[in-house]
Amino acid sequence: MNKEGQDNSRRDALKTMFRGAGLMGLGGMVWGGMADGLKASELSLRPPGALKEKDFVKACIRCGSCVEACPYDSLVLATPDDNTAIGTPYFEARKIPCYMCTDVPCVEECPSGALDAALLSPKDENLAESMDINKARMGIAVVDQNNCIAFWGIQCDACYRACPLIGEAITLDFRRNERTGKHAYIEPVVNREICTGCGMCEHACVTEEPSIIILPVEVASGKVGAHYVKSWENKNDNKLNGATEKVNSDASAAEDYLNDSESLFDD
Ligand code: SF4
Ligand code: SF4
Ligand code: SF4
Repeated sequence: MNKEGQDNSRRDALKTMFRGAGLMGLGGMVWGGMADGLKASELSLRPPGALKEKDFVKACIRCGSCVEACPYDSLVLATPDDNTAIGTPYFEARKIPCYMCTDVPCVEECPSGALDAALLSPKDENLAESMDINKARMGIAVVDQNNCIAFWGIQCDACYRACPLIGEAITLDFRRNERTGKHAYIEPVVNREICTGCGMCEHACVTEEPSIIILPVEVASGKVGAHYVKSWENKNDNKLNGATEKVNSDASAAEDYLNDSESLFDD
């Protein structure tokens, strides 16, 4: 049997084994043990529906089914030269982004649950048919305002136009150009609640190195801590029970207070 044939039979055998009920846990243990010895880069962009990085690296059985299923060759399996867990799938948005297939074949073909259809489906449904690629959170686009030429006042909307969720995941912000007095800055702004991390913006960016890049969600996110509460959100009412001081839950009043610089100088 040639090498390709051997690879395919290995892949088929792994798929059959992990599709068998009850063996998912075993898969996690076997590959999790191997994964412990591997150095995974937190910057790797994983396919849609991927579990959190640590869980993903443990659950992925390195079968390559997602890579094989991807019609755009976006996904590749990491080699020893790549700075991520060997054999796990990832993509480099600058080279080939995820084109957000509506049928999400990469997730559909994943036998281990490392790519989880439930993360792309409405709550309580785990059906491949209910997957919505717009729910993918492969990463978050981040704009480098120092090098994005739109922030220099040069007209460029390449990333905006490349975005499959144009006007939602990226919008354009118009701001007066005080330097020239007659032009406007037209700046891309990413809505992180909607951005899927597909990377089409990074792929399209016109600067020599991309000035909009995709970072994994965990890398791009801060952590606010439990002691800050958005009092104006209804579901937070319970957290405020027992608070000793009366809290003004009117959002506009809170914003007015923070923007009232004069009160800073009150006695
Ligand atoms: S959604 Fe489509 S383009 Fe994106 S990784 Fe999956 S198969 Fe490839
Ligand atoms: S993510 Fe799933 S399909 Fe892709 S290599 Fe890992 S186990 Fe196989
Ligand atoms: S990664 Fe870029 S192109 Fe993709 S949804 Fe987010 S902003 Fe749009």
